[in-house]
Amino acid sequence: MKIILNNSILRKTLGPFNDIGFVPTMGGIHEGHVSLINKSIKLNKKTVVSIFINPKQFNDITDFKSYPSNIKKDLKILKKIRKLDFIYIPKFKDIYEDIEQSQIKIKKKDKILCAKYRKGHFEGVLDVMSRLTALIKPKKIFMGKKDFQQFFLVKNFIEKKFNTKVIGCKTIRNKNKLALSSRNFLLNKQELKDVEKISKTFLNLKNKIKNCRNINSFLRKTKKDLEKFFNIKIEYLENRNTKKLAISNKYRGSKVFLSYYYKNIRLIDNF
Ligand code: AMP
Repeated sequence: MKIILNNSILRKTLGPFNDIGFVPTMGGIHEGHVSLINKSIKLNKKTVVSIFINPKQFNDITDFKSYPSNIKKDLKILKKIRKLDFIYIPKFKDIYEDIEQSQIKIKKKDKILCAKYRKGHFEGVLDVMSRLTALIKPKKIFMGKKDFQQFFLVKNFIEKKFNTKVIGCKTIRNKNKLALSSRNFLLNKQELKDVEKISKTFLNLKNKIKNCRNINSFLRKTKKDLEKFFNIKIEYLENRNTKKLAISNKYRGSKVFLSYYYKNIRLIDNF
């Protein structure tokens, strides 16, 4: 496994390879990331993992400043993955001063879910993904469906612009069904227990909506009840189809999308 710290070494190192799998991350490595990496190793000759906390995708400066970062711990986990080839840890200038990228705007119809509440977030995500793809030239990019809207927008954007496939991977959860997330590192033991309880309640909604006539009106009411019961702020709790992310009252072909604040920590999930 080789650690690459700048673009000239990256270009030299990756130059000879044309079957690269790429897993972009912001660090805070956990088993969710590891599952993407293992999938890439299975499907590609070489695998690159990047660790870059992209400031341009944070709409909130305190969120950026408190984002969990521990490169030593990350490397310890990544070094245990035997067949992982490269870890790319760029600096800001490697991404933003070395590569051309025209300004990205997302369409009005896409300003839903996280895009509605995090202004500029996905513009920042698409920008950095475009720059990273131009640099690494991967055959495949592996992304988690935990961040389904991100996966959806990146897939549509990148596959149009590059000769690269974006593969969605299943959400990895802990034994209490909480979706793994770097932001979980910000929680203490008791807080983690609280969030697991909240998460379980949300997952149970999937059974409750099965025979619902109007799923979204049921979710609107449930949203208010759960906010009161758990003392949380829910940004959205919506049933949408997975093809276009349009609001849907059908159970099949849809997912419930959820974003909430527990204290001041923002968590998202879909199920
Ligand atoms: P992040 O470091 O949070 O930007 O995540 C990097 C990649 O890992 C993204 O494609 C995420 O969707 C994915 N990811 C994060 N959490 C999970 C999880 N629990 N299961 C599967 N993939 C995940």
